[in-house]
Amino acid sequence: MLKPKIGFLFDVDGTLTTFKRNDSVVDLLIINDLELIRKKKHPIGLVTGRGVDWVRNFFFNHINETLREYILIFGEYGLVNWYKGKKIRKQIKKEIKENLFLAKDEFTKEICEYLELESYVSYVAPDKRSLWIEPKELMITYRSLPFFGLIPERFLKIINPILEKYSDTLKAYVSEQALDILPVKESKKTAAEKAIRILDPNKEIELWYAFGDSESDEDMALARNGNVKFFKIETSMTSDLHRIIQKILAGGTF
Ligand SMILES: [Mg+2]
Repeated sequence: MLKPKIGFLFDVDGTLTTFKRNDSVVDLLIINDLELIRKKKHPIGLVTGRGVDWVRNFFFNHINETLREYILIFGEYGLVNWYKGKKIRKQIKKEIKENLFLAKDEFTKEICEYLELESYVSYVAPDKRSLWIEPKELMITYRSLPFFGLIPERFLKIINPILEKYSDTLKAYVSEQALDILPVKESKKTAAEKAIRILDPNKEIELWYAFGDSESDEDMALARNGNVKFFKIETSMTSDLHRIIQKILAGGTF
């Protein structure tokens, strides 16, 4: 029997990386797996809430040039992507973009006032109690600082009355690591559909293996333009992911 042509989609944080003191740490075992997937010429897409700049400047620091060029990025839930060697942004309605900017100011002000914080914009965690905002282009991300009792559920509770005002255009995703706010229509489903469209323009891939560690990642399985088999990995359990990849590459079936 002929083996089906396969492809791979990965969430990044907590799936390809482990969390150590709020920071996403790359697991070299997994980088090696990605290299093996590349050598077998299976397409690889990162379907992530992270921005393209973070992936390219932090995550990609740990991988070689060939692999860097091979892996495509569908960042900010498919809103800001990296393919054809450049950053490509999804067209979104002007109204939604305006709401994102307005809402960001309102949310930030509300959280800072309520919790008596100053905002801090960076990819790197602050060393003092602050509202840690991760740089993003078309979405908003407030990162968790559990050491200071600053957790995403708390942020959400504070901004909820404001968020309701924007509920026609914006929605929130809460995880242990962050509160993400993005346009209502975007999700890991739309991001995976974009990834499949770009990675497999001739529709040759018969089966996509997708991996993620949070509930929102499960939406990758809903992509309508491909046959996606989703695996939920426990956050930071990269050894589990490693075992599954090895089994798939050895021709194992699931
Ligand atoms: Mg994750």
